[in-house]
Amino acid sequence: MKAGLNSVVKKALQGYVGFANLPNQVHRKSVKKGFHFTVMIVGESGLGKSTLVNTLFGTTLYPGKGDVEPTDETPKTVEIQSLSAEIEENGVKLRLTVVDTPGFGDFVNNEESWKPILDNIEERFDAYLEQENRVNRRKMVDNRVHACIYFIAPTGHSLKPLDVEFMRRLHTKVNLIPVIAKSDTLTEDEIKQFKQRILDDIKSHNIQIYQAPQYEYDDPETIAENRDIINKIPFAIVGSDREVETSDGKKVRGRKYPWGVIEVDNPDHCDFVKLRQMLIRTHMEELKEYTSDVLYENYRSEKLETMGVQQDPTVFKEVNPLAKMEEERQLHEVKLQKMENEMKAVFQQKVAEKESKLKQSEEELYTRHKEMKDALERQRMELEEKKRRLESGRPITPEKAKKKGFPFNK
Ligand code: GDP
Repeated sequence: MKAGLNSVVKKALQGYVGFANLPNQVHRKSVKKGFHFTVMIVGESGLGKSTLVNTLFGTTLYPGKGDVEPTDETPKTVEIQSLSAEIEENGVKLRLTVVDTPGFGDFVNNEESWKPILDNIEERFDAYLEQENRVNRRKMVDNRVHACIYFIAPTGHSLKPLDVEFMRRLHTKVNLIPVIAKSDTLTEDEIKQFKQRILDDIKSHNIQIYQAPQYEYDDPETIAENRDIINKIPFAIVGSDREVETSDGKKVRGRKYPWGVIEVDNPDHCDFVKLRQMLIRTHMEELKEYTSDVLYENYRSEKLETMGVQQDPTVFKEVNPLAKMEEERQLHEVKLQKMENEMKAVFQQKVAEKESKLKQSEEELYTRHKEMKDALERQRMELEEKKRRLESGRPITPEKAKKKGFPFNK
């Protein structure tokens, strides 16, 4: 039986061909190009956002709040600030962009706090769309936001209306990764209960947070590692860019308390390691892929649809050609009808003008006719009078003629 065009036949190799090296080629090319990742940080002031970013990437990407000159002017809206840094580890370069949103949740009225953030994410999508539509697409810059770490205050209760509103508005535009800020201020039990309440709230509001995908072909170790990461969401975070000394004299990144030290990099103490693992070690490419293939694609097709172009899963095409033709036919008919109405109106106006002209000339004719008739009548009366005079042999005097209304002819 002949194999169909689409059927793939599995064949055993008789020797080494070399394509097993393909992943290495991709690896070499990617390392040469370098990596680029954009992460957005959202949460009220003082929840430890800058500290976390510095802790995550092991660099003082963020100036400490003490390094920034205080200003008298308090901003009225949420600002969007973007910081980029190139970091390198074992020869692999990562261009990291952190989009900060100072002011979020800091105002008396925080109702629209989510708006400038949504606008910024969409502007980044628009910038990418614009590059895609260019003739030369060789140097595409991807400034889309690949993940948004949302800081939840460690209240121990449930999500605040501000948290719900933000997530509801943004969940279809960005990979949301909720974290519990400063979790060292809560006990282990409190964290457990708080996490459950947050997840219940997220579910009841139909909010879609980032779901790390599971692949069947992954080895059992990777599957277990992924499951472990997913089970920790929302990550209970402790941030610190300072080293402290433990009771046994070890220097660790952490926070020191009278009762002991909380180690940032110890998975038994907090979920910082899991968050870092997901963001950097295991899911950075997944986050970028989901942003590009799902979040951006949805935005793009919605945007193009509003512009009158519908997207097919494989090709771009105009709206259904039959519907388009029908629409054009109807438009043409409306246009014809309009032209016909205009012509009718012009015709009627012309007829009316002609009629009034005719009426005018008729009246003129009538007046002239009457004048001529009157003149003839006068002539007739004059002649009658002349005849009468001649017959009587007595000439008429000018006074008499005037009295009778006759013109006096000698
Ligand atoms: P941001 O305004 O959200 O950027 O917050 P900062 O990173 O500037 O942190 C505000 C304060 O909280 C600083 O004094 C930090 O040292 C402290 N801080 C940051 N992370 C943590 C944490 O995980 N636990 C505790 N207890 N304090 C933290």
